Amino acid sequence: MPHGKPAGMPCVQLDDQLRCRLFGRPERPAFCASLRPSADMCGASRSEAMALLSALELATQPDAAAPPSVGAT
Ligand code: SF4
Repeated sequence: MPHGKPAGMPCVQLDDQLRCRLFGRPERPAFCASLRPSADMCGASRSEAMALLSALELATQPDAAAPPSVGAT
């Protein structure tokens, strides 16, 4: 996806079984290759992972309420 993957949209590289078509290939984005799964991101099941990832996506969306910055008036 030349301009990045919009939030909430599946990657175009996912196949019918939700596997990355680029896995192990040099065309796979460096960010994807660097991402390491962790329990706090993946949980113990697909449904738990989807809930955790949805919460992370909501918490990091650009228009999410930002915490007040130090020194703000
Ligand atoms: S690893 Fe990267 S390229 Fe592959 S499906 Fe996931 S987001 Fe897409």
